[in-house]
Amino acid sequence: MLPIIYHPIYSNFPLPEGHRYPLQKYRLLKEHIDEMGWPVKTFQPTPLDSERLKRIHDEDYVNALVSGSLPLVKMRRIGFPWSKALIQRSLTSLGGTTLTVDKAIEHGVAVHLTGGYHHSHKDFGSGFCLFNDLILASDQALSYPSIEKVLIVDCDVHHGDGTATLAQGREDIITLSVHCDKNFPSRKPDSDIDIPMPIGVESHTYLSEFVPVLKLAIAQHQPDMVIYDAGVDIHADDELGYMNVCQHGIAERDKAVMEACHQHGIPIAAVIGGGYRTEQSALVPLHAELIKAAFNIYFPNWSKES
Ligand SMILES: [Zn+2]
Repeated sequence: MLPIIYHPIYSNFPLPEGHRYPLQKYRLLKEHIDEMGWPVKTFQPTPLDSERLKRIHDEDYVNALVSGSLPLVKMRRIGFPWSKALIQRSLTSLGGTTLTVDKAIEHGVAVHLTGGYHHSHKDFGSGFCLFNDLILASDQALSYPSIEKVLIVDCDVHHGDGTATLAQGREDIITLSVHCDKNFPSRKPDSDIDIPMPIGVESHTYLSEFVPVLKLAIAQHQPDMVIYDAGVDIHADDELGYMNVCQHGIAERDKAVMEACHQHGIPIAAVIGGGYRTEQSALVPLHAELIKAAFNIYFPNWSKES
């Protein structure tokens, strides 16, 4: 059974009418997984204690954001109106992140049905990201004595700027970002490994550039854990991505990452990351490729089980 981590609060906080954030996709994806009768075991997280975030973020930033006293200009940069429900949702999803890491270490693989807040920096958030769950996930993994090095594989179409700056100078966290070079954020601080892709890149080119670098990164750095941001905003029809990758390309990418981890016996904690369509149900089959990839690689008999 594949461990998946989900809480109904992921799709439940107030947003203004017509807001870009695909609030319902988390619920729709969970409903799809349930409808398909796939062999998963769902774990429901509890909210993370915000004190824990002070190991990663600036203390004043954590206090101000949690209490609702962050200046409006900084809230605007995040892109959400402040509400108690937003903070509760954020802390619950971060609790989900640490739980996903725990389950991945226990079972080899686990999937979080939200996450990928890679635009969150030490003392400010941006691009719908309050606190950086990829760094938190690394921190959680590194709390295990068996784990000395974590590789963050960020395949969201947007560059992982917050993750890059938070991991700078750390030898226990290696960051890899494959992203569109002409997309948000405009300033892209160096990750350990960056793979910039041009606007309109097709599946074949994307895969032929990304997969060998991933394999090399694993061989070179020999991580004990992989945190995978499986953003689907690389899809041709995405409203915030400018790539031209098809659904099959996404499936191949997710399989390649899972396969590389499985081959080397490296536990993998995956988050679904970005994906933006006005018709949010169109995102479900794209994000479901991550679940199917996990089944195909880790539970090859899954179609017989279901
Ligand atoms: Zn994105």
